[in-house]
Amino acid sequence: MIFLKTEDEIELMRAANRLVAQTLAEVGKALRPGVTTAQLDKLAEEFIRDHGAEPTFKGFPNPYGGPFPGSICTSVNEVVVHGVPSEDVVLREGDIISVDCGTLLNGYNGDSCYTFQVGEVSEEVRQLLRTTKEALYCGIATAVAGHRVGDIGYAVQSHCESAGYGVVREFVGHGIGKEMHEDPQVPNFGRRGQGKQLKNGLCIAIEPMITMGTYEVYMMSDRWTIKTRDGKPAAHFEHTIAIHHGKADILSSFEEIEMLEASRNQTL
Ligand code: MG
Ligand code: MG
Repeated sequence: MIFLKTEDEIELMRAANRLVAQTLAEVGKALRPGVTTAQLDKLAEEFIRDHGAEPTFKGFPNPYGGPFPGSICTSVNEVVVHGVPSEDVVLREGDIISVDCGTLLNGYNGDSCYTFQVGEVSEEVRQLLRTTKEALYCGIATAVAGHRVGDIGYAVQSHCESAGYGVVREFVGHGIGKEMHEDPQVPNFGRRGQGKQLKNGLCIAIEPMITMGTYEVYMMSDRWTIKTRDGKPAAHFEHTIAIHHGKADILSSFEEIEMLEASRNQTL
């Protein structure tokens, strides 16, 4: 069932998503070679709790195994999504890491993800990040009242495939509100004019997961970590948006992250 949000609910969603944006920026500030993903997780959990919210991912149930142990997903290089924070994962110069974060604040969810560069990253990988981020905004640009979910997927898919990249099929965007995952599903592939119609009050997370090579992925034995089949890198960018006054209103934000990237000469 799709739950359309009231004006008041959209503002609550905005607050939860603003906290996600701040948390991602805090994680970004701590990124450097030698840092472990467990350190990033601890920092994120403390920041979220200090701001009166819950990290939604912590303890998130898994149909295949135990609950998610971390407060953020930290997916390095060939890990596409759901990377589990660990003392054993030490970031190195030239890595990329997607940090996916969810908060529950005053009963509503925020959800956003950004793929960061660690130090200096190859131009080939930067191009993957650039294209994935552009694809997110292509999807958002089509998310207007009257359009359909398939229009978003088509926009994301055509932007990435025309650049020669793979579009992951097994994981998709989603409705969001009181629950982190609500209807409808929002795939990163699709056909124009197909699927559920977008209406004012609909809140969705759009989240392209894009690969340098094959779009095929597999699950590691921890029952969480998803990697590319060919071991090539993947990127993941996500915003939560509301269809508001007929247009996409982006509730999460990359503004602070982009300022950080500019200060590090990492602008995509
Ligand atoms: Mg997410
Ligand atoms: Mg999501």
